[in-house]
Amino acid sequence: MFNSLSEKLDKALHVLKGHGSITEVNVAETLKEVRRALLDADVNFKIAKEFTNTVKEKALGQNVLTSLQPGQLMIKLVKDELTKLMGGDAEGINLSGNPSIVLMSGLQGSGKTTFSGKLANYLKNKKTKKPLLVACDVYRPAAIDQLHIVGEQIDVEVFSDKANNDPVSIAKAAIAHAKSNGFNVVIVDTAGRLAVDEVMMTEISNIHKAIQPQETLFVVDSMTGQDAVNTAKAFNDILNFDGVILTKLDGDTRGGAALSIKSVVNKPIKFIGTGEKMDAIDVFYPSRMADRILG
Ligand code: GDP
Repeated sequence: MFNSLSEKLDKALHVLKGHGSITEVNVAETLKEVRRALLDADVNFKIAKEFTNTVKEKALGQNVLTSLQPGQLMIKLVKDELTKLMGGDAEGINLSGNPSIVLMSGLQGSGKTTFSGKLANYLKNKKTKKPLLVACDVYRPAAIDQLHIVGEQIDVEVFSDKANNDPVSIAKAAIAHAKSNGFNVVIVDTAGRLAVDEVMMTEISNIHKAIQPQETLFVVDSMTGQDAVNTAKAFNDILNFDGVILTKLDGDTRGGAALSIKSVVNKPIKFIGTGEKMDAIDVFYPSRMADRILG
């Protein structure tokens, strides 16, 4: 995960690690390298620039150069800023409804169906939750079958209706089914398309309005870098979603999506997907991720 970014930041901060005293030139050089590492990771230019400017200001404010361990302090400033960039403190998901309704949104192939299963499994393992999965992709019968396969794997019921081509009424019927059968979480998987378009946006917006979820999650493939950020912005404009799910972090992703999404849409990354299996889900902790990136 983020190997290339880690290596580059390690190299950038290397100079500071061994020094008892460092100079203004060291700091400037280091920050230039840090900025380059962020840009190479596909973080957008403005964010990367703000990042290094903030670290620089804080370094000046804390008189880093005259401190006892200037190198360590600089590294701490970079780590704190990375944590902040990814969202600060961890946030859970809101399951206050009865049933709690969780709506999945995102492009086709982003990992919505897989993540719906992972989340259901994660909640089911918490014992107090009884999740119901709902298949609302009315365009691709294969997507409905895929959710049923996932449901079987984790032993969670899947609600679907292949004869119905109205996702709003399927979602409503699923919620009624959940109410009368003791399910306390309803996870609604929706149809995605390959790119943002009006039909998909209108449909997800209609479902959102009709079922008023406690938690609307936007699922995005972390391998898509800056595109991930643009897609997030488009979905957030329509849905004002509650959180981001970053999938495929097990792949060779550069890290740009993880580092940019929070500051563009101002919504937290809540979970990450780290594989195709149902247990490849982790709560996202920005500080742990920053630790990991900085090694
Ligand atoms: P959807 O179209 O948004 O429902 O996406 P899917 O859930 O069908 O996922 C698309 C592909 O990505 C499938 O082959 C999944 O197995 C794969 N996938 C989903 N999440 C992850 C992940 O975290 N890591 C990896 N490596 N593959 C994933």
